[in-house]
Parts: sequence; C-alpha cells; structure tokens
Amino acid sequence: MSQEPLEIIPELREIPGVRASFIGRIPGIDVSVPREEAVNRLSPVHWELLNAFLGKKLPLVTAEQVHGSSVALIDTTTTGSLLQTDGLVTTQQGVTLGIYVADCAPVWIVARDGTAGALLHSGKKGTELGIIRQGIRMLADCTGKQVGAFLVVIGPCIRPPCYEVDFAAEIARQAREEGIHEILDAGICTACNPDRYYSYRREKGLTGRMLATLTLRL
Ligand SMILES: [Zn+2]
Repeated sequence: MSQEPLEIIPELREIPGVRASFIGRIPGIDVSVPREEAVNRLSPVHWELLNAFLGKKLPLVTAEQVHGSSVALIDTTTTGSLLQTDGLVTTQQGVTLGIYVADCAPVWIVARDGTAGALLHSGKKGTELGIIRQGIRMLADCTGKQVGAFLVVIGPCIRPPCYEVDFAAEIARQAREEGIHEILDAGICTACNPDRYYSYRREKGLTGRMLATLTLRL
C-alpha cells in the first residue's frame, strides 16, 4: 500500500482558511547526501506537491534553522530563508511558511479563527531554549489575542525509545504552562516509520528532510 507523501494535518483541517501539510519521504530520490544537497534534490517535488495542495503558487518562506529559539514575524514582503531563525509567525495571506525536519518536531500553533499561525522547528535543543514560549508569545502579541485562542499540533518527530529525550512531551508541557488548553500530538515517531519519514538518527545523519507547511486565509 502506498502512502501519499503529502499529508494534510487532520487536526487543522477544520480551521477556516488554514492549509497545513507535512511532506514525508519521497520515493525514488537519493538523499544520502549532506542537508543542503538533499533539500535541493527534494525541492522540485516539494513544490509540485505544495502547489497541487494549495491550488496555486505562493511564495514559500523558510528559516535557516540553527536549533535556536528565535522566531520571526513574516509578512508579504518577506522572501526566501530567514537567517538565525527557527520559527515563523504570520497573520498574512498569500504566503506559505515552511520548516524542514528529520527527527526534530514541526510544531503548528494556530488561532482557532484561522487569522494567525506559527510554524516552529523544535528539537531537543530548541525546546530547551524555549522556542515554544517565544512562538506563543509572539503570536499573542501580534494578534492581541488571549493564548487560549490558539491550539498546538505536534507533528511526527523522534521519540522514546528511539531517542533518549522526550522533547515532544516537553513541548506539550511548555505550551500548557503558557496557557494553551488544546494540544494535539498524534505521537508518531519518525525513526519507527522509515517507509514514510526520514530520520536523521536512524540514517546516521545522511538523509532527506520532511517539509512542514502552513498557509493562512486561502
Ligand atoms: Zn521510534
């Protein structure tokens, strides 16, 4: 049975205007190369899948991803990849946020009315450094909304026993501590599902990247 590489995030499907996806392993592309080359090889397929999913071509804004806790506010003038950043926040239509992962967690934080959202790269280090708090606070600041207006979705990432640190549990704990009530974690481990996902640890550092995306008000 073949699995489509682009999964629509089910927990965000019913939110008005929100399109959130997770593009997993792409069959037939050799990705046992360093990160930049792996992303270059995957990009044309990522574009094709994303454009088909959205029904139009929108600019994709990504982050350098340095395992830090910096989050940037994106508008329609922002392009390309943001340096020294691991999280993207927006209230704009006409732009897609993208985060690459292979064991670290993609974390979506979305307003229930669909007017604002964040997409974060949160692995062991970023979680320790508090990127979840940063993302939630920036989202609350830029919208003027109470934190209770947002929900959190934790995507596929490496988990115990495949990895010694349960950072997904820590992400949920921090979100709850910030005042978010609705935290959804499907509990999927990247290392346990090599047919569907890339795993940096399982594949010893030479592997592809999944692309998590978030588009608003489409
Ligand atoms: Zn596992």
